[in-house]
Amino acid sequence: MNSGLLEDASFNQSPAFGDVDLFAADRPLVDAATRLGLDAEALSACGRDYGAAETLDLGRIANENPPKLRTMDGKGNRLDLVEFHPAYHALMAKSIGHGIHAAAHDGSAPQAPLGSRAVRLYLATQAESGHLCPITMTHACIGALRAEPALLEKWQPRILSRTYDPRALPWWEKDGVTLGMGMTERQGGTDVRANITQAVTRGDHVEITGHKWFMSAPMCDAFLVLAQATGGLTCYLMPRHRPDGGHNNIRFQRLKDKLGNKSNASSEVEFHAAYAERVGPEGAGVRTIIEMVNLTRLDCAIASAGQMRIALSQAVHHIRNRTVFQRRLSDQPAMRAVAADLALELEAQVALVFRLTHAADHAASDPREAAYARLLTPAVKFLVCKSTPQVVYESLECLGGNGYTEDLPLARYYREAPLNAIWEGSGNVMALDVLRAAGRHPDAAMDTLSRLVRMASQAFNVAPLAQALERTLKSAEAERRARFLCEGLARIAALAALVEAGSPFATLYGETRLGAGHFAQFGTADLGNAEIGLMDRALAA
Ligand SMILES: Cc1cc2nc3c(=O)[nH]c(=O)nc-3n(C[C@H](O)[C@H](O)[C@H](O)COP(=O)(O)OP(=O)(O)OC[C@H]3O[C@@H](n4cnc5c(N)ncnc54)[C@H](O)[C@@H]3O)c2cc1C
Repeated sequence: MNSGLLEDASFNQSPAFGDVDLFAADRPLVDAATRLGLDAEALSACGRDYGAAETLDLGRIANENPPKLRTMDGKGNRLDLVEFHPAYHALMAKSIGHGIHAAAHDGSAPQAPLGSRAVRLYLATQAESGHLCPITMTHACIGALRAEPALLEKWQPRILSRTYDPRALPWWEKDGVTLGMGMTERQGGTDVRANITQAVTRGDHVEITGHKWFMSAPMCDAFLVLAQATGGLTCYLMPRHRPDGGHNNIRFQRLKDKLGNKSNASSEVEFHAAYAERVGPEGAGVRTIIEMVNLTRLDCAIASAGQMRIALSQAVHHIRNRTVFQRRLSDQPAMRAVAADLALELEAQVALVFRLTHAADHAASDPREAAYARLLTPAVKFLVCKSTPQVVYESLECLGGNGYTEDLPLARYYREAPLNAIWEGSGNVMALDVLRAAGRHPDAAMDTLSRLVRMASQAFNVAPLAQALERTLKSAEAERRARFLCEGLARIAALAALVEAGSPFATLYGETRLGAGHFAQFGTADLGNAEIGLMDRALAA
């Protein structure tokens, strides 16, 4: 055998994916940002930062070195500390530096505060998703803390700070803080009214005793916690330290062993008369925390869109650089059909997600945008988060056997993919929430639906589907058919978002997603000569 054979051979492998401007390479994103009037140059800098080979590698390292819980020291003293790898801290510092934890509230992007930050979240999640759990909760907690202005005023300067300070010190001694949230208990997650954790008033504060079955990012400086008070379920802010500087009685029992999301710590925790302060009126816990949950649900959709994007980018990069049977994979008709079909899905879902951030940004001043945000937030979370495992899986397969190995990040993306659909309200809960929103504000919901139908029908006639949705919604079958209603609404909204964006792919999306004869697997749709354009936009050179 020629000893130089292996040294000299070209192994036909695609080069490593990295040092990519994740913003500029993503034409559907650039278009969305342009529509929102955002600063493309600043977003490009953010895209280069998260797309740097070094940053992508931090994502790998942070997940290969998961956090460790230290409940006690060697002498039996309580510590309740979680230790993270430096790669995790580097990612936290980066995302706080980009303001993803609070920029929507600091006036830095007045024309589209949620939209501008949403683009950064979408870019950040492409490097690593787990660290964004405390980042997104910190951003969203501000929504709930508005119910208690004095408390918000105290905490706000440190929440808005762009300095990441991981030290386990009382919050008032730190340069920046992060916030988490504890709602879910063993006997009831979705059904938070079943919560048994109790709050007892002690002068100007309460002491909370009970547990949370899931409480992620336990190293946060404070947590929004739901507990039962005399007046009913109430929201509280529970800091890691008591006002006298001592450790609060928050005892972490263990960290969850999860399918994915390895870089993020998710704890089981007990509270033993832990100090907390009330947020919002007693008995109004759900109403108060829902202000947070609406923001985290939006984040789930944005982040899932980012997860799909990075998987597709890796796939397109690979098939452009790998040859089979003397032809690049990206020129093989059957492969092009798959990649273009995935790209078409992303065109629509990216347009939809950023249309929703626009509605959320204008909800306070425009009742129609408020109605859109109310009805569409659960529907968009449902569609986008539920599409993610399928899109990631199909992208993974584009890399063949390599895609299935732990040496490439696709396996990690795949494990992460189902999570956003579960937390902040699982699939059925989102579908039922659409029904609830339509039931509470029927006129506004019907107005939103007819406006979406008018817009969408410019590209594809959705009137028959809309009539079926309306009939089902008003029937006794609505609850049983909740997923049909939810996905139908989200698909019409996605088509409408493409039309509103002036996309040349709107009709194709309508025909292949809402027309007859469409199958479920990616690559089965007939996209004709739109394929190359779609792929070019998915990962622009
Ligand atoms: C990694 C991870 C981290 C998490 N971090 C946190 C955290 O930091 N803080 C926190 O509070 N929680 C956290 N959670 C919990 C998460 O929000 C809940 O698991 C989720 O809301 C579902 O609640 P549950 O697990 O109790 O399931 P259940 O509420 O029991 O739901 C089980 C299933 O039933 C469905 N269902 C519920 N109600 C209905 C209905 N009326 N009709 C039909 N179907 C229904 C749901 O869609 C779901 O599929 C985390 C979860 C995970 C996986």
